[in-house]
Amino acid sequence: MKKVNNVLIIGSGPAGYTAAIYASRSGLNPTLISGLEPGGQLTITTDVENYPGFENPIQGPWLMEQMKKQAEIFGTTIINDYVKNVNFRQFPFVVETEKEIFNSYSVVIATGAKAKWLEIEGEKDFMGLGVSACATCDGFFFKNKVVAVVGGGNTAVEEALFLSNLCQKVFVIHRRDKFRAEKILQERLLKKKNIEILWNQEVEKVIGDKKKRCISGVEIFNNKNKSKRELAIDGFFVAIGHAPATDLFKTKLKMDNEGYIITAPDSTKTNIDGIFAAGDVTDKIYRQAVTAAGMGCMSAIEAESFLNFKKII
Ligand SMILES: Cc1cc2nc3c(=O)[nH]c(=O)nc-3n(C[C@H](O)[C@H](O)[C@H](O)COP(=O)(O)OP(=O)(O)OC[C@H]3O[C@@H](n4cnc5c(N)ncnc54)[C@H](O)[C@@H]3O)c2cc1C
Repeated sequence: MKKVNNVLIIGSGPAGYTAAIYASRSGLNPTLISGLEPGGQLTITTDVENYPGFENPIQGPWLMEQMKKQAEIFGTTIINDYVKNVNFRQFPFVVETEKEIFNSYSVVIATGAKAKWLEIEGEKDFMGLGVSACATCDGFFFKNKVVAVVGGGNTAVEEALFLSNLCQKVFVIHRRDKFRAEKILQERLLKKKNIEILWNQEVEKVIGDKKKRCISGVEIFNNKNKSKRELAIDGFFVAIGHAPATDLFKTKLKMDNEGYIITAPDSTKTNIDGIFAAGDVTDKIYRQAVTAAGMGCMSAIEAESFLNFKKII
């Protein structure tokens, strides 16, 4: 008979690896499928200063490598493959990758999310060198400096408010003449003396010096009077939304209208017993490595209880 896994973890970001560390230390011999981005989002950043336990900044890829090794040491089987289909109606559950079909009594979904980018010239080149999609993560690097946030929804306004407490000046660049953000947030924004809103402006290019590893500004286009100019800034925050990696689970699990998997309060349990979701795939508020890791821990503990309850272990 084909082997049935106790726990199958989909995703190798902080949530997936933490679930793997806990599940393997509980003797559950988990299998983790790493996906196309082994290590997840932190592998595309440089300095990480807010993951607890490190006095000095650490590199995102290094941190993820440590998590991987820790998961492997305790007995996680890591498979470099990509899940293309799942069947959660059948029990044991079925998870199909490009190369194999897995059966498992429980599944932890830790497929994360991706920031949406503007896809303009220079944006990719200066990612981590002045271009960011996370004020909580990178705002501190721009303390007392001049930054800009692009976007018009809640995220953009919240990022601008956060940055206004750290930075000398914050521009909010929006392509329309009004925000989509909640009224209360807009009111808070308008009260801030160091925030300036640039209405009807579109960012066309990020300008910087690769050798100096920093940006010097952005080129903006005024869609009302059709003029172009350069705005001098030290940091550029793209806040036009995030997309959870949940296409695979559409119609198979309960999700909200933005595609985030819905979990029970204070839990990683989804609407199907034995299927758990952890990290950015279910979190549109905090989106941090440490919160993703925390949820990964919860998912492994909850998976173990489920397996116990079902008398599988
Ligand atoms: C540039 C940048 C800088 C950041 N800096 C910080 C910081 O300084 N501090 C901080 O706390 N947070 C930071 N963050 C946020 C942090 O990286 C995320 O909150 C965290 O990585 C979320 O972890 P996760 O495990 O939920 O998902 P992710 O890290 O997004 O990992 C998702 C995983 O799922 C896998 N996957 C997706 N689809 C499939 C599939 N179909 N089959 C198999 N696998 C799949 C991917 O390969 C990936 O391994 C930053 C994010 C970015 C983008």
